[in-house]
Amino acid sequence: MKDKYGRTVDYLRVSVTDRCNLRCFYCIPKEGFTYIPHKEILRYEELLRVIKLFTRLGIKKIRITGGEPFVRKGLVFLLKEINKINGIEKLYITTNGTFLTQYMNELRGIKIDGINISLDTLDPYKFQEITGNDGLERVLQGVESALEANFRVKLNTVLMKKNIDEVTSLVTYASEKKIPIRFIELMPFNFQKEWEKEFVPQEEAFEILKKKWTLEPVEKKLGEGPSRYYYIPELDSLVGFISPLTHNFCSSCNRIRLTASGKINPCLAMPLEIDIKKPLRGGANDEELITLIKRAIYEKPLQHEMDETPQTKS
Ligand code: SAM
Repeated sequence: MKDKYGRTVDYLRVSVTDRCNLRCFYCIPKEGFTYIPHKEILRYEELLRVIKLFTRLGIKKIRITGGEPFVRKGLVFLLKEINKINGIEKLYITTNGTFLTQYMNELRGIKIDGINISLDTLDPYKFQEITGNDGLERVLQGVESALEANFRVKLNTVLMKKNIDEVTSLVTYASEKKIPIRFIELMPFNFQKEWEKEFVPQEEAFEILKKKWTLEPVEKKLGEGPSRYYYIPELDSLVGFISPLTHNFCSSCNRIRLTASGKINPCLAMPLEIDIKKPLRGGANDEELITLIKRAIYEKPLQHEMDETPQTKS
């Protein structure tokens, strides 16, 4: 379906849990963070019902995310059930990669159209500093396992002062694995002070890469998302940039989100949420829920309000 600005919304990101085995400083605040109680998290049958209703409004692509999706028990069951839903054309997962090797035998037979693996550094000490966890080796093994099982893999790297010195080694690593890597600008969720200290605009990484290799813009749209890609002929490799702050992509945003606790969030960067869990658990029928989903899609904001000037809000 289209929102009120005429954008077709056909992509739903589903967060299946707010829990994660990593604690990236830019994602989970150091203090004042509490997990959502289990009973407030949508059960799988609830999730599947809501996803089916979304498909009736034209959602065709689903991305499973979190928290860390593999932290939630029974994720493989959910993936299989989503694949049975009429109207779902693509199913993707975003993961930190630490559980991929463990789950690969179960995942092998499932139609998953792409696995995005988050990897901010190749340095185990920095990995520990960023994520509070010593799991870098498990992530790298996870990349290998997914590739051996023939899944399409992309890497996501959040750009920050802590890893700007690694952009060329990360691109080299990705090219050796023959997978695209995308650099994502750090967004200022929940952690204004560190964000001001750590934010690096996309151009900085671009300039570093340009000094070493040729970056040819790729005109054709690759993938479903907002990444702008460049081809590096010397490596026969693709590097992408996702720059919500310096080059916002709101005008072509095709996505909507469902949080683990059953809120529809039409824009990741805005605190706008529509609760679907309450009516769902209160006995609403499909038509009532569809009316709610329609409203959420229709009311998708024209653009977010983040920018790269330091903000004074705490
Ligand atoms: N746990 C999974 C993972 O690590 O990919 C899925 C959830 S995680 C929230 C999804 C992506 O959001 C990761 O690539 C993560 O690095 C990115 N992310 C989290 N906080 C961010 C921020 N403040 N700015 C930019 N990207 C962020």
